[in-house]
Amino acid sequence: MKLTDLCRLVFHFVRTRWLLRFSSRAALQAWQQKKITAFLKQQLPLTPFYQQYAGLTLQELPVIDKAVALEYFQHMNVANISLEQASAIALQSENSRNFSAELDGITVGLSSGTQGPRGVFLTSGKERAKWAGIMMARTMPADLLHSLIFRATPIRIAFFLRANSNLYTTLNSKRIHFKFYDLYEGVDVHLPELQAQVPTILVAPAHILSRLAELKLQGHLTISPQRVISVAEVLEPDDKSRIEAAFGLPVHQLYQCTEGFLAYTCELGVLHLNEEFIHIEPEWLDQEKTRFVPIITDFTRVTQKVIRYRLNDVLRVRDAQCSCGRVSLALAAIEGRCDDILWWQQRNGHELVAVYPDMLRHAITMASISLPDYRLEQHGSELLIAIESGETATINEAMNEMIAAITGLAERLGLLAPNFKSMTYVAGEISSKRRRIRCVSRTDIQHIRHIVEKSAEVAHA
Ligand SMILES: [Zn+2]
Repeated sequence: MKLTDLCRLVFHFVRTRWLLRFSSRAALQAWQQKKITAFLKQQLPLTPFYQQYAGLTLQELPVIDKAVALEYFQHMNVANISLEQASAIALQSENSRNFSAELDGITVGLSSGTQGPRGVFLTSGKERAKWAGIMMARTMPADLLHSLIFRATPIRIAFFLRANSNLYTTLNSKRIHFKFYDLYEGVDVHLPELQAQVPTILVAPAHILSRLAELKLQGHLTISPQRVISVAEVLEPDDKSRIEAAFGLPVHQLYQCTEGFLAYTCELGVLHLNEEFIHIEPEWLDQEKTRFVPIITDFTRVTQKVIRYRLNDVLRVRDAQCSCGRVSLALAAIEGRCDDILWWQQRNGHELVAVYPDMLRHAITMASISLPDYRLEQHGSELLIAIESGETATINEAMNEMIAAITGLAERLGLLAPNFKSMTYVAGEISSKRRRIRCVSRTDIQHIRHIVEKSAEVAHA
């Protein structure tokens, strides 16, 4: 790392860790507003897509989504990089598994999503150093920070992901040994190396951490990291308890996607939005304002603009403020994608009502026996259930428990339980993101209405 980048990293570390503190939420918001105004004033005229909007306030700018961001990719970055150029570099890296390629000093990366077109991100060298400083400030526990500064032994980070990036290896230095474990090769193949690395920090998608936890519980792995961080997918309650039992530590979470570094867990283990760098407008999904889809604006990133970008995720707000003293919004959970929401019909009405994935997860964890891995898919009025293979008797028992738990949930919510059907369990590639709950298609409500009206007519006659 160049000295200027190192200085930048240290500056952002110190600023993020100790200086960006606010006495109240109102103070944070007022400060954010000032930063956003300055950012828009300076950046809109420089970015082709936004030149026509120069002079407008954030609220007056269009809300965009992934489709728009990809369509106008070249006009939303200031490096004049086209989507074709960026995709070609990113795909080349993916295929060669060499992630160090750059385009005029700009790092190009692909999102790890498996649904729909994949997002592409661009970061400059300056932005990478800054990102590394912020990331370290958000994730480094105090004791590790102490040993980073005062001890001779470096910190060793084990990082499991589908794709590496120059962005992540920015962290690599004399004091920090960063090792990427390529999930394309699976998990078990990396065990000897992981064992030899003796990582101080272990970072991986939740279902990979869960697999490592299982191996540790079985005695096949003896690593004892001082921090375990879950990334890239929803942290399911059963995985969380397994990981915590195996490593004897609370699992921390990082919510980092192509569009930015959105949330992290504080020292008390509570998820906080990274509002010192990203402005998040909630698009509320319910009247009680418990769940929202975030519309994000990164007012610190300039190469590629992320302005009023609507993510396809559902976040749930925490009931109470966190006692750590941070005034950034605390979350109870990142629930998953918008299309993980199931829609069931009211018992006494025709409306479809949202059943959020965490409601299902909660109902399933409360079942009287502990259930194996599963998949739930809504196809119209049917709910397809797959249970991880085992003995037939146990699968049947698990299936009955699952149906009872879901039926109970429907009753509590005043909804009609779906028609249950079983489907074959397919574990999926270890390298792909796990999605346990998915809505493939909603109930055709017109169809239901038609049937109800017809039968009412018959009753009338
Ligand atoms: Zn907190």
